[in-house]
Amino acid sequence: MSIRRGLRVKLRKNIAEIPEYVPGRSVEEVKKAYGLERVVKLASNENPYGCSPKVYDVLQKVIADLKNLHIYPPSNPTDLLEMLSDYTGFEVSRIVIGAGIDGVLENIFRLLIDPGDEVVIPIPSFPYYHTLAAISGAREVRIERQKNFKIHPDLPRYVTDKTKLVIICSPNNPTGNDEDVNTITEVIERASEVGAAVFIDEAYAEFSTQNLLSLAKYENVIVARTFSKAFGLANLRVGYAVMPEWLRKEYMKVSTPFPLSSLAIEGAKAALLDVEHMRWTVGEIVKERERLYSLLNEMGESVKVYPSSANFIYFETVKPASLIAERLARKGVIVRDCSGFIGCSDRAIRVSVGREEENELFVDVLKETLEELEVLDKPRNLEDVS
Ligand code: PMP
Repeated sequence: MSIRRGLRVKLRKNIAEIPEYVPGRSVEEVKKAYGLERVVKLASNENPYGCSPKVYDVLQKVIADLKNLHIYPPSNPTDLLEMLSDYTGFEVSRIVIGAGIDGVLENIFRLLIDPGDEVVIPIPSFPYYHTLAAISGAREVRIERQKNFKIHPDLPRYVTDKTKLVIICSPNNPTGNDEDVNTITEVIERASEVGAAVFIDEAYAEFSTQNLLSLAKYENVIVARTFSKAFGLANLRVGYAVMPEWLRKEYMKVSTPFPLSSLAIEGAKAALLDVEHMRWTVGEIVKERERLYSLLNEMGESVKVYPSSANFIYFETVKPASLIAERLARKGVIVRDCSGFIGCSDRAIRVSVGREEENELFVDVLKETLEELEVLDKPRNLEDVS
Protein backbone atom coordinates (compact mmCIF):
# COMPACT_ATOMS: atom_id res chain seq x y z
CA MET A 1 0.00 0.00 0.00
CA SER A 2 1.37 3.41 -0.82
CA ILE A 3 1.25 6.08 1.84
CA ARG A 4 1.90 9.68 0.89
CA ARG A 5 5.01 10.57 2.80
CA GLY A 6 5.12 13.95 4.42
CA LEU A 7 1.32 14.24 4.33
CA ARG A 8 -0.05 16.28 7.20
CA VAL A 9 -3.75 16.14 7.87
CA LYS A 10 -5.55 19.37 8.71
CA LEU A 11 -5.76 20.01 12.46
CA ARG A 12 -8.01 22.44 14.30
CA LYS A 13 -6.47 25.91 14.16
CA ASN A 14 -5.92 26.37 17.88
CA ILE A 15 -3.88 23.18 18.27
CA ALA A 16 -0.80 25.02 17.00
CA GLU A 17 -0.97 27.35 19.99
CA ILE A 18 -1.04 24.60 22.60
CA PRO A 19 2.41 23.99 24.07
CA GLU A 20 3.57 20.38 24.20
CA TYR A 21 3.08 18.80 27.61
CA VAL A 22 6.45 18.32 29.27
CA PRO A 23 6.11 15.58 31.87
CA GLY A 24 8.24 15.65 35.01
CA ARG A 25 11.32 13.42 34.98
CA SER A 26 10.85 9.85 36.15
CA VAL A 27 12.94 8.15 38.84
CA GLU A 28 14.36 5.73 36.25
CA GLU A 29 15.34 8.53 33.89
CA VAL A 30 17.18 10.47 36.60
CA LYS A 31 18.91 7.33 37.92
CA LYS A 32 20.19 6.59 34.44
CA ALA A 33 21.15 10.15 33.59
CA TYR A 34 23.34 10.63 36.68
CA GLY A 35 24.25 7.04 37.55
CA LEU A 36 22.41 7.25 40.88
CA GLU A 37 21.20 4.32 42.95
CA ARG A 38 18.66 6.19 45.01
CA VAL A 39 16.35 8.78 43.57
CA VAL A 40 13.35 10.26 45.35
CA LYS A 41 10.49 11.79 43.36
CA LEU A 42 8.76 14.67 45.11
CA ALA A 43 7.28 16.20 41.99
CA SER A 44 3.75 14.92 41.34
CA ASN A 45 1.96 15.26 44.69
CA GLU A 46 1.42 11.53 44.99
CA ASN A 47 0.70 9.92 48.35
CA PRO A 48 4.03 8.47 49.60
CA TYR A 49 2.21 5.90 51.78
CA GLY A 50 0.13 4.59 48.90
CA CYS A 51 -3.46 3.45 48.99
CA SER A 52 -5.11 1.17 51.51
CA PRO A 53 -3.64 -2.37 51.34
CA LYS A 54 -7.26 -3.51 51.08
CA VAL A 55 -7.40 -2.05 47.58
CA TYR A 56 -4.68 -4.47 46.47
CA ASP A 57 -6.48 -7.39 48.16
CA VAL A 58 -9.71 -6.55 46.38
CA LEU A 59 -8.05 -5.98 43.01
CA GLN A 60 -6.23 -9.31 43.27
CA LYS A 61 -9.53 -11.06 43.89
CA VAL A 62 -11.14 -9.15 41.04
CA ILE A 63 -8.35 -10.23 38.70
CA ALA A 64 -8.52 -13.86 39.87
CA ASP A 65 -12.27 -13.96 39.18
CA LEU A 66 -12.00 -12.04 35.98
CA LYS A 67 -13.70 -13.81 33.14
CA ASN A 68 -15.44 -10.91 31.52
CA LEU A 69 -12.92 -8.52 30.08
CA HIS A 70 -14.86 -8.67 26.81
CA ILE A 71 -17.85 -7.06 28.57
CA TYR A 72 -18.02 -3.28 29.03
CA PRO A 73 -17.96 -1.99 32.61
CA PRO A 74 -21.17 -0.48 34.03
CA SER A 75 -21.62 3.04 32.69
CA ASN A 76 -23.37 4.08 35.89
CA PRO A 77 -21.63 2.14 38.69
CA THR A 78 -24.40 2.31 41.28
CA ASP A 79 -22.42 0.86 44.21
CA LEU A 80 -19.59 3.35 43.79
CA LEU A 81 -22.03 6.24 43.36
CA GLU A 82 -23.88 5.22 46.52
CA MET A 83 -20.64 5.06 48.46
CA LEU A 84 -19.63 8.47 47.13
CA SER A 85 -23.03 9.73 48.18
CA ASP A 86 -22.33 8.55 51.76
CA TYR A 87 -18.82 10.01 51.67
CA THR A 88 -19.89 13.43 50.36
CA GLY A 89 -23.38 13.71 51.84
CA PHE A 90 -24.92 14.48 48.41
CA GLU A 91 -27.55 12.44 46.55
CA VAL A 92 -26.44 10.00 43.85
CA SER A 93 -28.46 12.06 41.37
CA ARG A 94 -25.96 14.90 41.88
CA ILE A 95 -22.69 12.96 41.50
CA VAL A 96 -20.68 12.27 38.34
CA ILE A 97 -17.54 10.21 37.94
CA GLY A 98 -14.71 10.53 35.45
CA ALA A 99 -11.16 9.54 34.62
CA GLY A 100 -9.71 11.71 37.35
CA ILE A 101 -10.61 15.35 37.82
CA ASP A 102 -8.90 15.75 34.46
CA GLY A 103 -11.63 13.63 32.85
CA VAL A 104 -14.43 15.44 34.67
CA LEU A 105 -13.07 18.85 33.67
CA GLU A 106 -12.71 17.79 30.04
CA ASN A 107 -16.44 17.06 30.07
CA ILE A 108 -17.21 20.40 31.72
CA PHE A 109 -15.39 22.19 28.90
CA ARG A 110 -17.27 20.10 26.31
CA LEU A 111 -20.51 20.96 28.04
CA LEU A 112 -20.01 24.70 28.44
CA ILE A 113 -17.47 26.18 26.09
CA ASP A 114 -18.00 27.40 22.55
CA PRO A 115 -15.00 29.01 20.79
CA GLY A 116 -14.58 32.59 21.99
CA ASP A 117 -16.33 32.08 25.33
CA GLU A 118 -14.47 33.47 28.33
CA VAL A 119 -13.00 31.29 31.04
CA VAL A 120 -11.71 33.10 34.12
CA ILE A 121 -8.63 31.54 35.71
CA PRO A 122 -6.76 33.00 38.68
CA ILE A 123 -3.02 32.50 38.07
CA PRO A 124 -0.85 30.68 38.92
CA SER A 125 -2.87 27.50 39.06
CA PHE A 126 -3.04 23.95 37.68
CA PRO A 127 -1.65 24.05 34.11
CA TYR A 128 -4.24 21.68 32.60
CA TYR A 129 -6.87 24.44 32.91
CA HIS A 130 -4.95 26.45 30.31
CA THR A 131 -4.58 23.43 28.04
CA LEU A 132 -8.33 22.76 28.12
CA ALA A 133 -9.11 26.42 27.52
CA ALA A 134 -6.79 26.41 24.50
CA ILE A 135 -8.23 23.16 23.09
CA SER A 136 -11.77 24.45 23.36
CA GLY A 137 -10.90 27.80 21.76
CA ALA A 138 -11.94 29.71 24.88
CA ARG A 139 -10.68 33.18 25.59
CA GLU A 140 -8.81 32.98 28.85
CA VAL A 141 -9.15 35.78 31.34
CA ARG A 142 -6.16 35.34 33.64
CA ILE A 143 -6.34 37.14 36.94
CA GLU A 144 -3.14 37.42 38.95
CA ARG A 145 -3.41 36.33 42.53
CA GLN A 146 -2.43 38.50 45.49
CA LYS A 147 1.01 38.24 47.13
CA ASN A 148 -0.22 35.47 49.44
CA PHE A 149 -1.76 33.76 46.36
CA LYS A 150 -5.37 34.23 47.47
CA ILE A 151 -7.54 35.16 44.51
CA HIS A 152 -7.83 38.86 43.84
CA PRO A 153 -10.85 40.51 45.47
CA ASP A 154 -11.53 42.30 42.17
CA LEU A 155 -12.00 39.01 40.33
CA PRO A 156 -15.83 39.24 40.23
CA ARG A 157 -15.45 42.39 38.11
CA TYR A 158 -13.94 40.25 35.36
CA VAL A 159 -16.93 37.94 35.28
CA THR A 160 -19.06 39.31 32.42
CA ASP A 161 -21.84 38.28 30.05
CA LYS A 162 -19.17 36.54 28.00
CA THR A 163 -17.96 34.40 30.91
CA LYS A 164 -19.04 30.76 30.84
CA LEU A 165 -16.75 29.31 33.48
CA VAL A 166 -14.63 30.39 36.45
CA ILE A 167 -12.11 27.90 37.82
CA ILE A 168 -11.10 28.06 41.47
CA CYS A 169 -8.57 25.60 42.83
CA SER A 170 -8.50 25.30 46.62
CA PRO A 171 -6.04 24.34 48.03
CA ASN A 172 -4.37 25.78 44.96
CA ASN A 173 -1.79 23.89 42.94
CA PRO A 174 1.07 24.92 42.90
CA THR A 175 0.89 27.51 45.70
CA GLY A 176 -0.81 25.39 48.39
CA ASN A 177 -3.08 28.08 49.87
CA ASP A 178 -6.76 27.68 50.68
CA GLU A 179 -9.23 30.20 49.34
CA ASP A 180 -11.51 32.27 51.58
CA VAL A 181 -15.10 31.03 51.46
CA ASN A 182 -16.41 34.60 51.43
CA THR A 183 -14.37 35.45 48.35
CA ILE A 184 -15.53 32.29 46.57
CA THR A 185 -19.13 33.05 47.49
CA GLU A 186 -18.84 36.52 45.96
CA VAL A 187 -17.49 34.96 42.78
CA ILE A 188 -20.32 32.41 42.73
CA GLU A 189 -22.94 35.11 43.21
CA ARG A 190 -21.48 37.30 40.48
CA ALA A 191 -21.20 34.27 38.14
CA SER A 192 -24.81 33.33 38.79
CA GLU A 193 -25.94 36.83 37.71
CA VAL A 194 -24.49 36.17 34.24
CA GLY A 195 -25.26 32.44 34.03
CA ALA A 196 -21.63 31.32 34.39
CA ALA A 197 -20.52 28.16 36.16
CA VAL A 198 -17.91 28.02 38.92
CA PHE A 199 -15.75 24.90 38.96
CA ILE A 200 -14.16 24.34 42.36
CA ASP A 201 -11.22 21.98 42.13
CA GLU A 202 -10.73 20.37 45.53
CA ALA A 203 -8.15 17.77 44.47
CA TYR A 204 -6.29 18.36 47.75
CA ALA A 205 -9.29 18.91 50.04
CA GLU A 206 -8.49 16.05 52.41
CA PHE A 207 -5.19 17.70 53.40
CA SER A 208 -6.92 20.93 54.33
CA THR A 209 -9.04 21.92 57.30
CA GLN A 210 -11.44 23.48 54.82
CA ASN A 211 -14.17 21.60 52.98
CA LEU A 212 -15.94 23.39 50.13
CA LEU A 213 -18.45 20.67 49.24
CA SER A 214 -21.26 22.65 50.84
CA LEU A 215 -20.85 25.27 48.07
CA ALA A 216 -22.39 22.69 45.73
CA LYS A 217 -25.72 23.97 47.08
CA TYR A 218 -25.51 26.76 44.47
CA GLU A 219 -27.14 26.04 41.11
CA ASN A 220 -24.06 27.18 39.17
CA VAL A 221 -21.38 25.34 41.17
CA ILE A 222 -19.47 22.13 40.49
CA VAL A 223 -17.16 20.78 43.20
CA ALA A 224 -14.63 18.20 42.02
CA ARG A 225 -12.60 15.70 44.04
CA THR A 226 -10.21 12.85 43.23
CA PHE A 227 -8.88 9.50 44.41
CA SER A 228 -5.43 10.42 43.07
CA LYS A 229 -4.09 12.32 46.07
CA ALA A 230 -5.21 11.50 49.63
CA PHE A 231 -6.55 8.07 48.61
CA GLY A 232 -3.25 7.26 46.88
CA LEU A 233 -4.82 5.95 43.66
CA ALA A 234 -3.37 8.25 40.98
CA ASN A 235 -2.81 5.30 38.65
CA LEU A 236 -6.47 4.15 38.71
CA ARG A 237 -7.76 7.48 37.32
CA VAL A 238 -10.89 8.06 39.37
CA GLY A 239 -12.36 11.49 39.98
CA TYR A 240 -15.85 12.70 40.77
CA ALA A 241 -17.85 15.89 41.12
CA VAL A 242 -20.98 17.15 42.80
CA MET A 243 -23.25 19.38 40.74
CA PRO A 244 -26.96 20.27 40.53
CA GLU A 245 -29.19 17.42 39.34
CA TRP A 246 -30.27 19.22 36.14
CA LEU A 247 -26.64 19.88 35.23
CA ARG A 248 -25.72 16.24 35.83
CA LYS A 249 -28.32 15.23 33.24
CA GLU A 250 -26.64 17.50 30.67
CA TYR A 251 -23.18 16.33 31.74
CA MET A 252 -24.13 12.72 31.07
CA LYS A 253 -24.85 13.64 27.44
CA VAL A 254 -21.24 14.68 26.82
CA SER A 255 -19.49 12.12 29.01
CA THR A 256 -17.89 9.07 27.47
CA PRO A 257 -20.35 6.18 28.17
CA PHE A 258 -17.81 4.06 30.10
CA PRO A 259 -15.54 6.47 31.95
CA LEU A 260 -14.12 3.93 34.44
CA SER A 261 -12.89 0.36 34.00
CA SER A 262 -14.18 -2.26 36.45
CA LEU A 263 -10.75 -2.31 38.10
CA ALA A 264 -10.96 1.42 38.73
CA ILE A 265 -14.52 1.10 40.06
CA GLU A 266 -13.67 -1.78 42.42
CA GLY A 267 -10.45 -0.09 43.56
CA ALA A 268 -12.24 3.13 44.41
CA LYS A 269 -14.93 1.20 46.30
CA ALA A 270 -12.29 -0.67 48.31
CA ALA A 271 -10.60 2.65 49.15
CA LEU A 272 -13.90 4.05 50.44
CA LEU A 273 -14.30 1.00 52.67
CA ASP A 274 -11.01 1.94 54.35
CA VAL A 275 -11.26 5.69 54.79
CA GLU A 276 -9.30 5.23 58.06
CA HIS A 277 -6.19 4.36 56.06
CA MET A 278 -6.57 7.50 53.96
CA ARG A 279 -7.07 9.59 57.12
CA TRP A 280 -3.97 8.05 58.69
CA THR A 281 -1.80 8.89 55.67
CA VAL A 282 -3.21 12.43 55.60
CA GLY A 283 -2.30 12.81 59.28
CA GLU A 284 1.29 11.70 58.63
CA ILE A 285 1.61 13.92 55.56
CA VAL A 286 0.23 16.97 57.36
CA LYS A 287 2.69 16.44 60.25
CA GLU A 288 5.56 16.14 57.80
CA ARG A 289 4.32 19.14 55.82
CA GLU A 290 4.50 21.35 58.89
CA ARG A 291 7.97 20.02 59.81
CA LEU A 292 9.21 20.56 56.26
CA TYR A 293 7.76 24.07 56.24
CA SER A 294 9.71 24.91 59.43
CA LEU A 295 12.93 23.44 58.03
CA LEU A 296 12.60 25.50 54.84
CA ASN A 297 11.72 28.56 56.87
CA GLU A 298 14.87 28.11 58.95
CA MET A 299 17.02 28.36 55.83
CA GLY A 300 16.87 32.12 56.12
CA GLU A 301 16.59 34.68 53.41
CA SER A 302 17.77 32.57 50.53
CA VAL A 303 14.50 30.59 50.66
CA LYS A 304 11.01 32.08 50.75
CA VAL A 305 8.48 29.44 51.71
CA TYR A 306 4.70 29.69 51.65
CA PRO A 307 2.28 27.98 54.05
CA SER A 308 0.39 25.05 52.54
CA SER A 309 -2.95 23.32 53.09
CA ALA A 310 -2.12 20.58 50.59
CA ASN A 311 0.43 17.73 50.32
CA PHE A 312 3.11 19.91 48.76
CA ILE A 313 4.98 23.12 49.54
CA TYR A 314 5.71 26.06 47.27
CA PHE A 315 8.91 28.01 47.68
CA GLU A 316 11.23 30.37 45.89
CA THR A 317 14.98 30.68 46.20
CA VAL A 318 17.31 33.45 45.11
CA LYS A 319 18.42 31.36 42.13
CA PRO A 320 16.45 30.28 39.04
CA ALA A 321 14.20 27.28 39.68
CA SER A 322 15.55 25.44 36.63
CA LEU A 323 19.07 25.59 38.06
CA ILE A 324 18.00 24.44 41.53
CA ALA A 325 15.79 21.63 40.19
CA GLU A 326 18.61 20.38 37.97
CA ARG A 327 21.12 20.41 40.84
CA LEU A 328 18.67 18.60 43.12
CA ALA A 329 18.03 15.94 40.47
CA ARG A 330 21.78 15.33 40.18
CA LYS A 331 21.75 14.68 43.90
CA GLY A 332 18.79 12.30 43.63
CA VAL A 333 15.74 14.45 44.42
CA ILE A 334 13.17 15.32 41.75
CA VAL A 335 11.11 18.44 42.49
CA ARG A 336 8.76 20.43 40.23
CA ASP A 337 10.32 23.46 38.60
CA CYS A 338 7.27 25.75 38.30
CA SER A 339 8.97 28.52 36.35
CA GLY A 340 7.04 27.41 33.26
CA PHE A 341 3.66 27.65 35.05
CA ILE A 342 1.66 30.65 33.82
CA GLY A 343 1.87 33.32 36.54
CA CYS A 344 4.81 31.85 38.47
CA SER A 345 8.15 33.58 38.94
CA ASP A 346 11.26 32.01 37.46
CA ARG A 347 12.28 31.04 41.00
CA ALA A 348 9.21 28.97 41.83
CA ILE A 349 9.54 25.37 42.96
CA ARG A 350 6.95 22.91 44.29
CA VAL A 351 8.01 20.00 46.43
CA SER A 352 5.62 17.19 47.34
CA VAL A 353 5.63 16.09 50.97
CA GLY A 354 7.22 12.66 51.13
CA ARG A 355 7.99 10.28 53.97
CA GLU A 356 10.23 11.61 56.73
CA GLU A 357 13.44 10.18 55.27
CA GLU A 358 12.61 11.52 51.80
CA ASN A 359 11.98 14.98 53.17
CA GLU A 360 15.26 14.80 55.13
CA LEU A 361 17.13 13.96 51.95
CA PHE A 362 15.43 16.82 50.12
CA VAL A 363 16.31 19.34 52.84
CA ASP A 364 19.93 18.12 52.97
CA VAL A 365 20.47 18.35 49.23
CA LEU A 366 18.74 21.73 49.00
CA LYS A 367 21.03 23.09 51.74
CA GLU A 368 24.05 21.59 50.03
CA THR A 369 23.01 23.09 46.69
CA LEU A 370 22.47 26.55 48.17
CA GLU A 371 25.84 26.31 49.91
CA GLU A 372 27.53 25.33 46.64
CA LEU A 373 25.89 28.30 44.98
CA GLU A 374 27.11 30.38 47.93
CA VAL A 375 23.72 31.81 48.73
CA LEU A 376 22.71 30.02 51.90
CA ASP A 377 24.25 32.35 54.43
CA LYS A 378 24.31 35.46 52.34
CA PRO A 379 21.01 37.30 52.71
CA ARG A 380 19.74 38.60 49.37
CA ASN A 381 16.86 40.82 48.60
CA LEU A 382 13.91 38.51 47.93
CA GLU A 383 11.85 41.38 46.56
CA ASP A 384 13.34 40.75 43.12
CA VAL A 385 12.17 37.15 43.33
CA SER A 386 8.54 37.86 42.50
N1 PMP B 1 -6.57 19.31 39.85
C1 PMP B 1 -5.44 19.63 40.47
C2 PMP B 1 -5.36 20.91 41.21
C3 PMP B 1 -4.34 18.76 40.41
O1 PMP B 1 -3.20 19.11 41.01
C4 PMP B 1 -4.46 17.54 39.71
C5 PMP B 1 -3.34 16.54 39.61
N2 PMP B 1 -2.10 16.97 39.66
C6 PMP B 1 -5.66 17.28 39.08
C7 PMP B 1 -6.70 18.16 39.18
C8 PMP B 1 -5.87 16.04 38.29
O2 PMP B 1 -6.12 15.02 39.12
P1 PMP B 1 -6.67 13.62 38.64
O3 PMP B 1 -5.57 12.65 38.87
O4 PMP B 1 -7.87 13.38 39.49
O5 PMP B 1 -7.02 13.76 37.18
